[in-house]
Amino acid sequence: LKKPNVVILGAGYGGLMTTVRLQKLVGMNEANITLVNKNDYHYETTWLHEASAGTLHHDRVRYPISDVIDRNKVNFVKDTVVKILPDEKKVLMENGEIAYDYLVIALGFESETFGIKGLKEYAFSISNVNAARQIREHIEYQFATYNTEEEKREERLTIVVGGAGFTGIEFLGELVNRLPQLCREYDIDPHKVRVICVEAAPTALPGFDPELVEYAVGQLERKGVEFKIGTAIKECTPDGIIVAKGDDVEEIKAGTVVWAAGVRGSRVVDESGFEAMRGRIKVDPFLRVPGREDIFVVGDCSLVINEETNRPYPPTAQIAMQEGELCAKNLAVLIRQQGELQPFRPDIKGTVCSLGHDDAIGVVFGKKLWGAKASFMKKMIDNRALYLIGGASLVMKKGKFKFF
Ligand code: FAD
Ligand code: NAD
Repeated sequence: LKKPNVVILGAGYGGLMTTVRLQKLVGMNEANITLVNKNDYHYETTWLHEASAGTLHHDRVRYPISDVIDRNKVNFVKDTVVKILPDEKKVLMENGEIAYDYLVIALGFESETFGIKGLKEYAFSISNVNAARQIREHIEYQFATYNTEEEKREERLTIVVGGAGFTGIEFLGELVNRLPQLCREYDIDPHKVRVICVEAAPTALPGFDPELVEYAVGQLERKGVEFKIGTAIKECTPDGIIVAKGDDVEEIKAGTVVWAAGVRGSRVVDESGFEAMRGRIKVDPFLRVPGREDIFVVGDCSLVINEETNRPYPPTAQIAMQEGELCAKNLAVLIRQQGELQPFRPDIKGTVCSLGHDDAIGVVFGKKLWGAKASFMKKMIDNRALYLIGGASLVMKKGKFKFF
């Protein structure tokens, strides 16, 4: 019997979890498993706000894929996926192509700018290691340049964060902790630095527990963040942003604009002709593309409806990893032609949002947490994600053990 070719695209939480679980479930003689990723490392996307603010070095948020895959069972290809040809059961990459019997799309998320003018050109987004490194260095460049100019431009020291969703709030939490150190390093008067968060909805963290939101906003304001709530970014220019609150339009001059106000699934999904909403495919109960029984989708490229609310689950690492786990089990069923496919049933344990390394808010197993307790919980969640993919040795190498 011919060994089926299983091809997994993307080594984020979803793709890597699928790979490491599948390599445990099937033997060398049962399937050819190939993992394709544009880098030879995996990064913890959920830590990128720390690398972007410069509170954690970018090497701390990534590790070689070879550390967690079994080279006897998994063939790793470092390449960038360009297009999937489902009718031909083929994937086109920048440097070659690969045929599959079963495919897993796990290409993750990209920043979504909703067509807002100037954002692509002039704003940064916290989307991968390179982008995080660029944000950190750009802020440092602005601070370093400020004192070299005869005519001082204080807007160089203004940082705008677009969106007070979880990404925006977590980035702000790191940033305000980093600023005192940056000011000392670059001889900047801290009073000249402005950090402004612009949020279109009537509240920060829309939909989250209001008491915890109030705590988070209060903590960030205490450290100097100015919130502009109910205010939408309308345009980004080389000099800053244009915002509107009702009919009032305002220009905010800023040396750095970080857009943290929306994500979408990979553009490869759209470009391959799948029916999708902003790069997210509404999958069947077994995580497959409807009508394509050979293609699974996990992580931010998948869309699963929460039947209780009749709305899609938000794209999270928590769900991506659970999908990866189930996808591996379902692939093993198909490879062995034994057993039955299992439907995906998310088990949402809660949400914890950091406010720097020493503070956080969260709801875990229905219980509200804030301050040091929530921050401890956040680090345990970060370590658990490492454990689930790479076991205790990965936790020892990359884990977070500085709790307070
Ligand atoms: P990703 O993590 O995006 O991984 C995709 C992988 O595919 C990457 O390795 C990428 O390099 C690779 N890739 C992409 N395109 C190509 C291509 N064309 N060719 C080859 N390879 C490619 N969720 C939580 O549950 N809890 C949190 O605390 C949390 N914190 C977050 C903090 C931040 C700052 C951000 C931005 C997000 C956070 N999220 C959190 C959301 C979470 O990170 C995502 O839902 C999760 O990363 C999705 O996993 P994924 O495997 O689908 O994709
Ligand atoms: P999001 O879509 O959750 O939040 C974006 C925010 O930007 C919203 O509050 C929205 O109202 C606002 N916004 C949209 N357009 C705007 C505009 N023109 N001007 C001003 N504000 C605007 O995006 P996110 O925060 O990047 O999160 C993406 C996903 O990752 C979510 O599913 C989230 O749950 C997850 N995540 C989770 C955590 C965590 O659990 N700790 C951390 C980060 C991200």
